[in-house]
Amino acid sequence: MPGSDSVRVHEHSLIAANAAKGDAWPLPKAMTIESARILIVEDEKKTARYLRKGLTEHGFTVDVQSEGEAGLRAALFEHYDLLILDIMLPRCDGWTIISTLRDAGKDLPVLVLTARDSIQDRVKGLELGADDYLIKPFAFSELLARVRSILRRTASSQPEALRIADMELDLVHNRATRARKHLDLTPKEFLLLSLLARRKGEPLSRDVIAQEVWDMALDSDTNVVDVHVRRLRSKVDDPFAQKLIHTVRGVGYVLKEQP
Ligand code: CA
Repeated sequence: MPGSDSVRVHEHSLIAANAAKGDAWPLPKAMTIESARILIVEDEKKTARYLRKGLTEHGFTVDVQSEGEAGLRAALFEHYDLLILDIMLPRCDGWTIISTLRDAGKDLPVLVLTARDSIQDRVKGLELGADDYLIKPFAFSELLARVRSILRRTASSQPEALRIADMELDLVHNRATRARKHLDLTPKEFLLLSLLARRKGEPLSRDVIAQEVWDMALDSDTNVVDVHVRRLRSKVDDPFAQKLIHTVRGVGYVLKEQP
């Protein structure tokens, strides 16, 4: 399998490069504030453009949806670190979006933008699960400060360890065990396993996995993800009765306790 060999060579050269810098283990790609992915749902073209431009210039990855239903779909099914949400939107308003996200168990942080400045609206937004509130018109510096403060809060509340069935992941030292036995994983395998574990129960497509683990768009004829999942399973699942990594036909993979 030439593809997997070249990936392995690349992995080893990464480790070597990091070892040379005195860092024997490439750090997993954790969310840093500046690498955050932000979704803006805003129907006023001018405001959306202005926000996208400013946030992109500050290093954020930004997507814009101008209509409520499409915004809700993106917030539910794609991966973002923050949602900047207008309230008055065509097809589905911001309140409905927040409550649908929270009902679905999605804890994506939400910064609400609205022209309405009434106490009732603020209370409603915060009760529904918004994280912060900004009244239009606002200065960009004010928005940026709120965005950074929300992202800092989320980043510091990321877990240091995950436990799923008898598997434990130490996300600080990049170590994994099952039934208290050390799993001998390569850095990429650990990254792949921690991605699946962080998003336990959520089927992840090969595209998302390739993007998150290898930082690359997936070439349709490469099977790098499948090859790595197979290798990961041989270490994480094959020796144990309870399988944790499951194939989702037509989609990709999910990590969960139930078959
Ligand atoms: Ca609006």
